[in-house]
Order: sequence, then structure tokens, then C-alpha cells
Amino acid sequence: MQDLIEKVRDGNIRALARVISRVENDAGDAAEVVRALYQDTGRAQVVGITGPPGSGKSSLVTEIAKEFRKREHKLGIVAVDPSSPFTGGALLGDRVRMQELAGDKGVFIRSMASRGSLGGLARATAAVIKVLDAAGFQTILVETVGAGQSEVDIAQAAHTTLVIEAPGMGDDVQSIKAGILEIADILVVNKADKPGAARTVKGLEMMLHMGPQGGTRHHGRIMERTAVVEQRAQQERAWRIPVMQTSALKVAGIDKLVEKIVAHGEHLRETGGWLEREQQRSAREVELLLRERLMARLEAAVSPQERDDILAAVARREIDPYTAVEKLFEKI
Ligand code: GDP
Repeated sequence: MQDLIEKVRDGNIRALARVISRVENDAGDAAEVVRALYQDTGRAQVVGITGPPGSGKSSLVTEIAKEFRKREHKLGIVAVDPSSPFTGGALLGDRVRMQELAGDKGVFIRSMASRGSLGGLARATAAVIKVLDAAGFQTILVETVGAGQSEVDIAQAAHTTLVIEAPGMGDDVQSIKAGILEIADILVVNKADKPGAARTVKGLEMMLHMGPQGGTRHHGRIMERTAVVEQRAQQERAWRIPVMQTSALKVAGIDKLVEKIVAHGEHLRETGGWLEREQQRSAREVELLLRERLMARLEAAVSPQERDDILAAVARREIDPYTAVEKLFEKI
């Protein structure tokens, strides 16, 4: 393994693929790899891409990747599907457009699917991102399929989050839920070649200005309404969430979008927002690992029968939930 890890540091693609498979499949291997490579991570800009199915995420990811390649950026693409138990290349292999990127050594593409628990998927995704980061990929696109809470969680592991919408998906912009809008650093109306795009842009802009953030963010957090002077100072450093139009089909607006993505990374670095997001991310990651470890310990200490008996007793009102937790905790 140490040998493989050395090769990853040197940017060896075959070693990278092997290490990533091991990281995905084995929590113990993931721990070993992350320990060894952690000092080499923290350089890549992680870009989360989310939005409703059919909005054109994977088409757009392909075009974004091509644009980054023009700028000679090394690019990692991780497609995450929490709803699917299937793994490996199947997910992306089906997507014809992504195949345009196959064979380019500066692009590494990986599909990841749920393996039992969302926590497991989030852990594996975080580890894969670190391996790519350590291998020198400057930008890592993390595309999530769908637009539920799990996607929000995974997108929160990103420095920059893109929320993709398309015209004519439901009435106006209803398919974007408020919670999803709140995580956006950049809003994208894809399929701008279709009628109704301008109306969707207007709708999103209105939603942004109605929200408490008024379309700006400061250090990744929604801005509070503070005193005017304080607010003015903050506004200078605040990020104004743009609503951009693209067409993955016609390859339009992609260069401007990539410029915005890069600009957001620079904005975070200049304002201290980068560090703040790293801190949030580290806290979440440590919490996730701790939770997994505690659950594993609990499972080892308490047999399924014992656990079920305790749960049944709670249901029958023989013991209360707090006492049940007390009993379970004593066994750890
Ligand atoms: P995803 O489910 O969000 O990943 O969406 P896909 O990338 O699979 O795209 C869904 C459909 O929309 C496909 O048939 C694409 O060819 C089409 N599509 C993607 N981008 C555009 C676009 O910019 N304009 C138009 N007209 N169609 C697009």
C-alpha cells in the first residue's frame, strides 16, 4: 500500500485508480490512505454540483470539464448517487457525453453509489476527494444525482456549490426547494437555448432577493441585517450569488461559468471564507467518523437480539427511551 501511495503522490494514474477502489471498498484502507496523504491535501477547489434530475447536470459537468482542460487544469469528477446500490463505471459509462473525456490523462472520473449507509457514502466520497487532491487535481467536481437532503449534505463538503435549474421544469422555479437554494454559491439556468430561460432567471433572482440573504453571502453564512456601517464593510467582502445561463447542448456560457467558479475560489481565499469552510468541513468529517466508530462499537457489544429486546421494551412502555440508551451505553 505504501508503494501505491507514493505513486499517487507522483501522479501515477493507474496507482490512483487502485488506491481509490481500495478507499471506496474498505474503511480500514481509507484510514491508512487518508493518514498518509492528508498533509498533501487542501489545495484543490471542491465544486459541488446539484439540482433536479434532467436539468442537464452531467452534460454540463462534461462541458465544464472541457473548459477547465482548455486552461490546463487537472480535473477530478466524482459522481455520487445515494439512491443507487450500483457502483463502478456503470453510472457514468451510460452517459455518452462524459465519454468525450475518456482517454484524457488530466481528467479522472469516478462514479460512487450508496453502499448501505449514507454515512458510508459520505465518508468514501470525502476520502476519494482527498486522494484526488493529493494527486494534484486542482479542481474536483462532485456531481450529486437528485436534489434531496443527502445531496445537500454532500454538497456542503464543497468550497463552491452550483445549483442547476432548467427552464420549464415544473411551474417556474418550484422544483428548486428553498433549502437547496440556500446552499448555492452560483445558480445556473442550463438549457438556456430553450424558451422560458429568461423567465426562470427572473424567478430565481426574485427568490434570491426575497430571501434573508438578499442574494449575498458572507463567509459562507447567510448575512444578518446589521448596522449600516457594518453591513457596508461586510458587503465589500460579500459574495453576490450570480444567476448564470448556460447551454450544455450549444456549449454557450460555459467559459463565463468557469470564470465564476474560479472567481469564487479566489473570493474565498481572499476573505478567509476558505478557511471557514475547511473548518466546517473538518468538523463534519470528524463527527461523521466518530459516529460511525461509536455505532460499530455498539454493534460489536450488543447482539441484534439484545438490541431488539430493548427496543421492544420501549415500544411496550416497559422502559423509556432514555433508560434504553443508558442500558446500551453501559455495554460500550
Ligand atoms: P441530469 O439528469 O441532470 O444529469 O441531466 P442530463 O445531463 O442527463 O441531461 C438531461 C437531458 O437534457 C438530456 O437529454 C440532455 O441531452 C439534455 N440537455 C442537457 N443540457 C442541455 C441544454 O443545454 N439544452 C438542451 N436543449 N438540452 C440539454
